Amino acid sequence: MATRNRNDWIEFDQKHVWHPYASVTRPLPVYPVVSAKGVRLTLADGRELVDGMASWWAVIHGYNHPVINEAIRSQLDRMAHVMFGGLTHPAAVSLAEKLVEMTPTPLTRVFFADSGSVSVEAALKMALQFHVARGDGSRRRMLTVRRGYHGDTFGAMAVSDPENGMHHLFSGILPQHLFADAPCCVRDEDWDDSDIASMRALFEAHGDEIAAVIIEPLVQGAGGMRFYCAEYLRQTRALCDRYGALLIFDEIATGFGRTGTLFAMDQAGVVPDILCLGKALTGGYMTLAAVLTNDRTAEGVCSGEPGLFMHGPTFMANPLACAAARASIDLLLESPFKERVQSIENHFKSALESCRDYPHVADVRVKGAIGVVELTRPVDMEWIEEEFVKRGVWIRPFGKLVYLMPPFVIEEEDLTRLTDVVVETLKTPKLR
Ligand SMILES: *Cc1c(COP(=O)(O)O)cnc(C)c1O
Repeated sequence: MATRNRNDWIEFDQKHVWHPYASVTRPLPVYPVVSAKGVRLTLADGRELVDGMASWWAVIHGYNHPVINEAIRSQLDRMAHVMFGGLTHPAAVSLAEKLVEMTPTPLTRVFFADSGSVSVEAALKMALQFHVARGDGSRRRMLTVRRGYHGDTFGAMAVSDPENGMHHLFSGILPQHLFADAPCCVRDEDWDDSDIASMRALFEAHGDEIAAVIIEPLVQGAGGMRFYCAEYLRQTRALCDRYGALLIFDEIATGFGRTGTLFAMDQAGVVPDILCLGKALTGGYMTLAAVLTNDRTAEGVCSGEPGLFMHGPTFMANPLACAAARASIDLLLESPFKERVQSIENHFKSALESCRDYPHVADVRVKGAIGVVELTRPVDMEWIEEEFVKRGVWIRPFGKLVYLMPPFVIEEEDLTRLTDVVVETLKTPKLR
C-alpha cells in the first residue's frame, strides 16, 4: 500500500470488497481500523472507539493481547501449518487436552473445524452417520427451535430460523427439518410445561425420523438475541433420550464465559452428545472451531460402514490457531472471568434499564455479558453507526436489536461510555 495515498485503500474497499451481509454495488460506509489494543479500535484518522462487540462474541480478552501474541509468535517460529491427515502436532494435542478437561466428563473426543459453520456441518454429519452406522438410516431429519442461528453454510442454514430473513431466500433448496416453537420461558421458577409442548409434539409425530436436536443453550444469538431458561434444556435432553435422538449444543456464541459460566450448559447441568465451539475459542484471534462428542457418539460414527467420519478440512487444526486457542483458554481460566461477567451484567441491568421507558423500545434484557435493547422497528443502520462512531464507541446493531457484548476485560469507565451512548442515541433514534 506504500504507493497509495492515505484514503485510496478505503475507496478500493468500497468498490471491490464484499463485507458480511452487504452489497458491493450499494455499499454502506465501513470504518477503517488500522490497529486495536485492549478494548479500543483505532481508526485510520486516529480516532479511538471503545469496542462493545468483542468482534462478534470472540475477543474476550481484548485486542492485541501480549500473551496470545507471544503464543502465536512462538508457534510461528516452529511452523505455521501442517496438514492434519496422517500427521499431528503439539499445539492441537495440547488444545484438545484442555478442551476435554474443561468440558463435562462425558465429552472426550475432539474434531477441529475451521469455522463455526463448518463445525455445525460436522456435527450434523456425525449425527447422520451415527444412525446410518446403526442401521437406522431413516433418521435423517434434524429438530431445532425457531429463532435459532447456526451459521451460513447450507447444512447450518437448514437448521437456522426459516423466516427471520437471513436465509429464507434459500428455503426452497434446503433439506426440510423440523422446527419447534422458540422457547419463551426465561426463568426456571416460571417454568410452564406448555413451553416444550411444540417440541414434544414434533417428537410424537416424527420420533423415528429425528437424527438429532440442535440448539443454542440459553441464548439464541444472531437469530434474535433471545434468552430462555435451563429447564427447557433438561426437558429437551429427556425427549432426545426417550426417542433415541442425539443432542447437539451449539455453544459457538455462548461458550467461554459469556453467559457467566464457562459454558451455558453448565447452568442447566445438561451434557449434550455433541458440542460445537468456536468464536471465543481463540480469543477472537483466528478462525477455529471444535466439535466435541462423547464416546458413544464417536464410536457409533466409526462403527459399521464406512467406519470413519467423512470430513476433513484442509486447514484442520491449524497450529497457529490452536496455539492462540490454548493461550486464550489458559488466560480465561486464570482470570476472574465469572466476577468480570457478573459485574458487566450488573452494570447493564442498571444502566440500560432507562431505555425501557422509551416508546420505541420493546424490551431490555441482560444475561451475563450480553445487554440487549430491542426496538419496535428496525433502526437505520447508516445513521446509528455514524452516531456511535461520532460518540467514540463501536456497536453494531442488527434489525431491531441494539446489543452490547464487550470484551470481559472492559473497565467500568468504558462500560459506562458504552451504555451512556446507547441510552443517549436511542432517545431519538432514526427508525425504518
Ligand atoms: C456465529 C455462530 C455460528 C457460525 O460461526 P461462523 O464462525 O460465523 O461460521 C454458528 N452458531 C452460532 C450460535 C453462532 O453464534
